[in-house]
Amino acid sequence: MVTINNIHQAREQISDIINETPIISSKQLSSICGNEVFLKGEHLQKTGSFKIRGATNKVKRAVNEGASLVTAASSGNHGQAVAYIANVLGVPATIVVPEDATVSKINAIKGYNGEIETCGTTSMERLPRAMELAELKEGVYIPPYDDPYIIAGQGTVGLEILEQLDDVDVVVVPIGGGGLISGVLTAIKNTKPHVKVIGVEPEIANDTYLSLEKGAITSISGTTTMADGLRTSQPGDLTFPIVQKYLDDIVLVSEEELRHALFFVLERMKQLIEPSSAVSVAAVMFDKLGVSDKNVACVISGGNVDVRKLGEIFPKQGLGVM
Ligand SMILES: *Cc1c(COP(=O)(O)O)cnc(C)c1O
Repeated sequence: MVTINNIHQAREQISDIINETPIISSKQLSSICGNEVFLKGEHLQKTGSFKIRGATNKVKRAVNEGASLVTAASSGNHGQAVAYIANVLGVPATIVVPEDATVSKINAIKGYNGEIETCGTTSMERLPRAMELAELKEGVYIPPYDDPYIIAGQGTVGLEILEQLDDVDVVVVPIGGGGLISGVLTAIKNTKPHVKVIGVEPEIANDTYLSLEKGAITSISGTTTMADGLRTSQPGDLTFPIVQKYLDDIVLVSEEELRHALFFVLERMKQLIEPSSAVSVAAVMFDKLGVSDKNVACVISGGNVDVRKLGEIFPKQGLGVM
């Protein structure tokens, strides 16, 4: 299992690359939520998401061990992060993306000099291809969450929160494959164990929720949640035991709740965040946490969203301020 020392080491490894992101608060948000709410702004991170933390830790290690290429299977934030850090370190990156990947995402990867290879439409097709490409060229495949170096890198978000918010009571974290939350859990539970960590999933992408209920990794069959960073079908083999060991609670939010939270943060707080990040705000806004008058930190995991599509998320009427 990943240790707190691994996270401290990761922090040293990545400190020259990543930003220590700010904590953002709003009186109005706190008042709506009945708690003092603080947003940990990873939407302001390099490449627009926390994924650069784990990717930097892992790619640096691969390069130190002589990798001549890195590959990843993702058109999203992980693909951008791997392309970015590979470019900085001067090693080629091939990112395997689905045939229907959006142009804006492909352009972001190309902007970091990442090579694009298209393959199928599902991760079942992309993943083996990314691994195969790595093997063919003596490269290293960089997984999105189920890897000790990735988990340790993401855990640095937890260390920063503890330093920035001395008296934080509850930390709320979105869950996809579980790399972010398992890193944050390892950081927080081995530093200040009394701080509660609560995970959030969309109701329609509740694979970790179901897995915890069953006590075993359980998968779901496809989801249309607008939180596209949380669409993984099951938690990871490495991340799930960490979540099982430490997590205080897991809550679910509806697409409607997510939409409201996203709208509030965009319009009222002027922060360009992506739907996957808004689940943590929705959880506190819609009173899922069962706490009041506490200091609650919501991890805003990223801000990569196609601005042209953003308007489509909100109906012309019927979504006012609460
Ligand atoms: C990847 C991602 C997540 C989920 O992180 P996991 O480590 O897969 O749980 C959440 N939000 C954003 C913006 C992401 O890119």
